[in-house]
Amino acid sequence: MKMNGMIRHETGGLEYFTAESFDKTGLVRHCFTTRKGGVSEGCFSSLNLGVNRGDDTERVLKNYDIIFGALGSSKEKAILSKQTHSDTVWEVGTSDQGNGLLRANRFENADAFITRERGAALTVFMADCVPILFLDPVKRAIAACHSGWRGTVQRIGEKTVLKMTERFGCRPADILCAIGPSIGPCCFEVDVPVVKEFEAAFDFLPPSEYIKHTGGEKYHIDLWRANTELLKHAGVPKENITVSGECTVCNEELYFSHRRDGDRRGSLSAIIELI
Ligand SMILES: [Zn+2]
Repeated sequence: MKMNGMIRHETGGLEYFTAESFDKTGLVRHCFTTRKGGVSEGCFSSLNLGVNRGDDTERVLKNYDIIFGALGSSKEKAILSKQTHSDTVWEVGTSDQGNGLLRANRFENADAFITRERGAALTVFMADCVPILFLDPVKRAIAACHSGWRGTVQRIGEKTVLKMTERFGCRPADILCAIGPSIGPCCFEVDVPVVKEFEAAFDFLPPSEYIKHTGGEKYHIDLWRANTELLKHAGVPKENITVSGECTVCNEELYFSHRRDGDRRGSLSAIIELI
């Protein structure tokens, strides 16, 4: 099934999405997971990929086996971090395989990874925060970033593109981006202080483009639009950016959501690896 440039894959109960533009290059394995197809139970049901959420470790590792197996890879290649809503981008490689999953995390404050090494499976996790995957098919470089609202106001998506340019000589015009399922403008309701942070960070974009006043002290912010504009501001052409447009809060059957369920929930992942 295809929607908004994303392809929905369903195999034996497992469901995940890929970006058609990435698939076409034949250069990467990648996905945006849903909660379907894993072995976790209760509030973690079923494909929980969050490692420190109180779920049974064996089940989480089995879930990693399931999704990495479906991609034709293995969980030994996964590189995770301790995500802290920072704007820090780390360059990693195959020597970091297993970080944060099969061995202790060595990256403090890492919310984005870049690499040009094959077999380094960049993995970010979330439950409402915006996942963004990057692929430069010319320089054969990839990145993954976790851009919740705090990451968005720190412009982490733009900083990820910048780092790819600095480290690998990527041209932003060549970079493909995919924004995965996350909290939509329908559900991301905020108060005035958050609005002020966005207005300060997005000095290049009129607030009316992505912030809607919904009454009283309440506003709704479109993080998909905000992140798309950040990527465009970094030089990525609009036509290179795929946006899932699926809201994790609205769709309980498919997604974990922090805003909907609080701490008692699993985590989704976005994964990308050069073949
Ligand atoms: Zn929603």
